[in-house]
Amino acid sequence: SAADDASDASDVSSGGRKVSSDLIAREVKRRRTFGIISHPDAGKTTLTEKLLLFSGAIQLAGTVKARKSGRHATSDWMEIEKQRGISVASSVMQFEYRDHVVNLLDTPGHQDFSEDTYRVLTAVDSALMVIDAAKGVEEQTIKLLNVCRMRNTPIITFMNKLDRETRDSLELLDELESVLKIQCAPVTWPIGMGKNFRGVYHLLRDEIMLFKAGEERANGNVEIIKGIDNPKLAEMFPLEIEQLKMEVELVHGASHPFNLDDFLAGVQTPVFFGSAINNFGVREILDALLDWAPGPGGRDATVREVKPTEEPFSGFVFKIQANMDPAHRDRIAFLRVCSGRFERGMKLKHLRLNRDIKVSSVVTFMASSREQVEEAYAGDIIGLPNHGNMQIGDSFSEGEMLQFTGIPYFAPDFFRVARIRNPLKIKQLHKGLQQLGEEGAVQVFKPVTGSDLILGAVGVLQFEVVASRLLNEYGVDAVFEGTSISSARWITCEDKKKLADFERSSAGANLAVDAAGNLAYLASSGVNLRLTQERWPEVTFHATREHA
Ligand code: GDP
Repeated sequence: SAADDASDASDVSSGGRKVSSDLIAREVKRRRTFGIISHPDAGKTTLTEKLLLFSGAIQLAGTVKARKSGRHATSDWMEIEKQRGISVASSVMQFEYRDHVVNLLDTPGHQDFSEDTYRVLTAVDSALMVIDAAKGVEEQTIKLLNVCRMRNTPIITFMNKLDRETRDSLELLDELESVLKIQCAPVTWPIGMGKNFRGVYHLLRDEIMLFKAGEERANGNVEIIKGIDNPKLAEMFPLEIEQLKMEVELVHGASHPFNLDDFLAGVQTPVFFGSAINNFGVREILDALLDWAPGPGGRDATVREVKPTEEPFSGFVFKIQANMDPAHRDRIAFLRVCSGRFERGMKLKHLRLNRDIKVSSVVTFMASSREQVEEAYAGDIIGLPNHGNMQIGDSFSEGEMLQFTGIPYFAPDFFRVARIRNPLKIKQLHKGLQQLGEEGAVQVFKPVTGSDLILGAVGVLQFEVVASRLLNEYGVDAVFEGTSISSARWITCEDKKKLADFERSSAGANLAVDAAGNLAYLASSGVNLRLTQERWPEVTFHATREHA
């Protein structure tokens, strides 16, 4: 509000360091930054929309959906540009709920699947996992959960589509526990399913929320009946209540009670049942996020840990999106604020280049309004305009040399050889790929023998994006051909002499250097990789690497 703004301004101008650090502590405390993960079609887009609906950030259902349908990897952010940072189709959405500031980070689904997806998860403090209760754990769910596990990110689970015929609820929990290796603590429990879906029983509050189909607006009028033994229930749906009582007994016996510490440690996930499309069970999710999920925590910055409430600003880039405006070759670097207070127009140090930049036109991601946000705190995401000199993993501060860690590159699963139709453009090809490689759009490997350039990606769509960007931004008409490479591993070796032996051996012909200058082994098959690893026990083969 205007009054708050005025008092903030005087806090700063009075030079009261204490006041300002109180302000930062207050703002940090009310932030929640989470990613939403799921296998395609589980209902991530629908749930995102309902979360925004609940918070009041959008008024009408259909807004997010409509944007998704026409969506391409690149059109996403034409949208942002058009809307000056308010697009709900963008991958970052900020909204307020119960006096909290919530940052919701979308992870792209299947066709869009790329390294971005993984790295987005390095910028969140918790994750919301959406599961289609008719299908259970699916392939992408497993991949994404493994990434969350790298940082022990706390996870809230939403079992979706209870208005359909689903699998048995106990069986679903069982699958979660055995496949994802995470303890389940059901918080709500479904009463019936499909046509007979009656609602959910809140195990902690001992109350029943009655299901009503087709809520397009979030008026929050869910009918609640207190107590599982309430005679009213037995009257309403005797069969389902019998079943519920039996199941609840089983659940109490067989599953784990919710434990906040276990959740925060990433070993236990609270599980909620509902139906996103019917706006049912969504409020419980939001409340769990606010009540249980952690706010921004400390971050490792190599030389020390950075606390979110420290006054000096710091943050790191976890994603770069190109093609904002194809005519200008603009890119946006998504920066997660780790500490302090960002203010428009402030001077930041770009630590890798040791250069000051003045950030005057920053994109923010309010889901509800066109207001340009003037400040940001730990947990918030800001978009910095980037003319090609920022890389994923780059850190920014007010001067201190901090390098935030834990922003991974993943060994690619798909490989192509880059060739060019016009040999005169070879320089542009190299320059383009070097820059796109630095930016993280694709991984580029230069084999130590030969003159080919090998591209590696985690999702094949990356190749399409890179081909179109090479053409549009660098005027290079490249073709990507298949290769015999099946996997890549970064290699390190403590023993310099052994490393030299390795490089000189026949395996050495499979070595390549990536865009950041790291040595990698490109294997022709899983067998080849395994045999090489066995033959060279002193050499370590890494499936991930950190920012250079
Ligand atoms: P995403 O690919 O994970 O983003 O999934 P979407 O949100 O696009 O949903 C995939 C499909 O499932 C769409 O047709 C949705 O309308 C549908 N869907 C989402 N939530 C529900 C639900 O609670 N019940 C039913 N029956 N369908 C749902």
